[in-house]
Amino acid sequence: MSKGTINVSVDNIFPLIKKFLYSDHEIFLRELISNATDATVKLKYLTNIGEAKVEYGNPMIEIKIDKENKKLHIIDQGIGMTKDEIEKYINEIAFSGAEEFLEKYKDEAGDDKGIIGHFGLGFYSAFMVAEKVEIISKSFKDEPAVHWECDGSPEYVTEASDKTDRGTEIILHIADDSLEFLEDARITELLTKYNKFMPIPIKFGMRTETLPKPEGAKEEDPAPTEEVDNIINNPTPAWTKQPADLNPDDYKSFYRELYPMQFEDPLFNIHLNVDYPFNLTGILYFPKMTNDMNSQKDKIQLYQNQVFVTDNVEGIVPEFLTMLRGVIDSPDIPLNVSRSYLQADGAVKKISSYITRKVADKLKSLFNSNREEFEQKWNDIKIVIEYGMLSEDKFFEKAQAFALFPTVDNTFFTIEELKEKIKPLQTDKDDKLVVLYASNKDEQHAYIDAAKEKGYEVLFLDSPIVSHLIQKLESTEENVTFVRVDGDHIDNLIKKDEEQISKLNEDEKKSLTTILTEIIPKDKFTVQLEAMDSKANPFIITQPEFMRRMKEMQQSGGGGGMFGMGNMPDMYNLVVNTNNELIGEILTTKTAKKKERLVNQALDLARLSQNLLKGEELTTFIKRSFDMIK
Ligand code: ADP
Repeated sequence: MSKGTINVSVDNIFPLIKKFLYSDHEIFLRELISNATDATVKLKYLTNIGEAKVEYGNPMIEIKIDKENKKLHIIDQGIGMTKDEIEKYINEIAFSGAEEFLEKYKDEAGDDKGIIGHFGLGFYSAFMVAEKVEIISKSFKDEPAVHWECDGSPEYVTEASDKTDRGTEIILHIADDSLEFLEDARITELLTKYNKFMPIPIKFGMRTETLPKPEGAKEEDPAPTEEVDNIINNPTPAWTKQPADLNPDDYKSFYRELYPMQFEDPLFNIHLNVDYPFNLTGILYFPKMTNDMNSQKDKIQLYQNQVFVTDNVEGIVPEFLTMLRGVIDSPDIPLNVSRSYLQADGAVKKISSYITRKVADKLKSLFNSNREEFEQKWNDIKIVIEYGMLSEDKFFEKAQAFALFPTVDNTFFTIEELKEKIKPLQTDKDDKLVVLYASNKDEQHAYIDAAKEKGYEVLFLDSPIVSHLIQKLESTEENVTFVRVDGDHIDNLIKKDEEQISKLNEDEKKSLTTILTEIIPKDKFTVQLEAMDSKANPFIITQPEFMRRMKEMQQSGGGGGMFGMGNMPDMYNLVVNTNNELIGEILTTKTAKKKERLVNQALDLARLSQNLLKGEELTTFIKRSFDMIK
C-alpha cells in the first residue's frame, strides 16, 4: 500500500468542487461514462492497429446501484490504467485539470447559463456527489491491477487489487446529500438524457423480454420470457450514418426516438455532414409549425461525439432555425465558454452559416423536385422561412427561389412569378406592381370580394411578422409595392385605361362636401370624393397602408417607432363614390335631419364592413336601422 498527497494549491479543492455549479451535480455521471466510453474506444483503436494484443469482443459499460451500501458503480472493459497511469492521469493531470477549470470558471459558477454543458471537470466531478471514490483498474498491459481510494481530502491511497478482468471500475460512495443518485428512476433519467446515443452499449440492470411462443403451444399458454441486459442506449443513431444508408422511414423512426412524446411525423429532414473546415454531423427536422414562434424553441439537441450537451443551441444555430428539431453533433464547438464568447467564435460562426446554407439548399431542392408537395407544406413551414428571410440576408437571397406567396384562392406565386404574371393588370400610376394582400379572410371579406370582382389577385399573408417582411421586400424590389386590400381604394391604386366620369357637377360636389364635413367626425376620417363604378358601395373606409403597417410593426416589436408615432390615433379615409345612387339621394333629400340619418347610416355600414363598429356606436346603429325599416 502507498499513500500520497495530491499536489494542491488551495487547501482543499473538494468542497469547492462540491459547491461548484450546484444545480448541475448530475453531470458527474455523464463525465464518468464519457471516460469509460473513451477508454473502450481507445482499446478498440489499439487492437485495430495491433498495439493491444487482446480480444476486443463486445465490450459494454455497466452502471450498478448498491443501495444498501450507498454505492454507485461505473464499470467498463476499456484499456484500464496501471499504477503509474493512475498516478499520472488521476493524481496529477486530472487533478490539475480540475483545479485549472475551477480557477477559470468559479466566478461564473453562480451564472450557470454562462457555460454550456460545463464540460471539462472530468473525473473529479465525482466528488460533487460522493464522499469517497474508489478506482479499481486492470490495464490491458501485462501489469497488476490497482486499487485507488480518495475520501475527498488531498490524501489518497493506492494498493494492489485482485481484479483479473481488463477495465476500470469506479465506485462512488454517495454522500448523504446526494442519495437521489441511488434511485433507479433518477439514474434512468440521467442515462436517457445524456447517454442515449453514446457509441458503447450501456447496461443498467436487466429487463424481461417476451419471446415468441413455441410451435404447437396452446392459446392459454403464457408466452415464454427471458431476462436480458437492459441496454439504455442506441450506439449508432441515425446521424452517425451516411445519408445513402438511410431511407425515409429511418429518419422518421429516429425522430420518434428523439421525441418519444411527439406523435406527428416531421414534414422533412436535412442531414448535415461536413468535415472541413469543421466537423459537424446531425439531422434537422421541420415539424409542423404554428404562428407562435416562441413556443417551439429549445428542441434541437447539441451533442459532442454522441454525448448530450444541451438543448439550448442559441448562438450555434441561427435564431430562426431554433424552431426546428433534431440533433447537431460537433467536437468543434467550444463548450466550456460563455455564450457571448461562443457567438463571437470563428468556428461557431462558420457552423451557423453552414447550417443556414444547408437549410436553404434543401428547401430549394424540395421546391424544385416537387412543387405541389412543397405548396401543401407551405403553411406549416412559412413562419421559419419568413423569419429567416427577415433576419438573415444570405437566407433572404436564397429564399427568392422558393419563398411562396399564396393567393386567397390558394394559387402560389414566387416573387418572380408575381412580377411576371400579375404585373400587367396591377400597376399604379408610377408603373409599380401593386401587390394586394389580405391578412384575414373574414374581416376583409368585402374588400377581397371587390378586388376579385375586378379581376385582381389578392394574396393571403397572415404571419405575425408579415408587415416587417413586406417592408423588406419593398426595399429590395424597387418596383413592387404591397397594399392590404383595405389599405387604399383599389380604384385609386391601380392605373386604368379609362377614367370614370363623375355624375356630379362642381356645384353638387361642393354642397356634398359641405354636408359630409358637417356630419362626419373630422378627428377620425378624411373624406375623399371619387367617381367610381355606380355599382361600387357609396361609402368605403380604408386605412392608409403606411399608417397601418407602422402600427403593426410597433405592436410586433421593432422598427415602427421611428417617426415618433408612439401613440398614433387611428385615422381612416372615407372614400365617397359620387356615382352611387345614394349620393344623389343625400343631395336631394329635403330636411337636414333626414340627410344626417342617411349619411350616418351609410357611414356605419361602411364601418361595419371594416369591423370598426363597436360598443355604443353599434347600439345606436342597430336602433337606427330598426327605425328605418319600421
Ligand atoms: P479527461 O477525460 O478530460 O482527460 P478526466 O479527469 O476525466 O479528464 O480523466 C483524466 C484521465 O484519466 C483520462 O484522460 C484518462 O487517461 C484517465 N481515465 C479516466 N477514466 C478512465 C477510465 N474509465 N479508463 C481508463 N482511463 C481513464
